[in-house]
Amino acid sequence: MAADNTSAFNCRYAVAAGPPRWSVHAYGLAVDVNPVENPYLDGGRVLPAGGARYVDRSRYQPGMAVAGGVLVQAFAAIGWRWGGRWASPDYQHFSATGG
Ligand SMILES: [Zn+2]
Repeated sequence: MAADNTSAFNCRYAVAAGPPRWSVHAYGLAVDVNPVENPYLDGGRVLPAGGARYVDRSRYQPGMAVAGGVLVQAFAAIGWRWGGRWASPDYQHFSATGG
């Protein structure tokens, strides 16, 4: 994430509290796009830390996924859901499962 790499398949555990469980990325069913511009807000943490300047989603900057934007609409058109709508938003995350 810190290197701002867009990525899909990654055999890793989910970034979540509780016992380890496979991420949907481990099944190739999720894509993370521009992680710095679209950080994951896990409680008080910003992941990656370099994404702190993109936490204010009302200030659009290039590379950001935003509701109604072309990136979010393109994934929605194929039935994939956006983590930017979660209670702890993961703006970089798009998945076929919604998880
Ligand atoms: Zn993801």
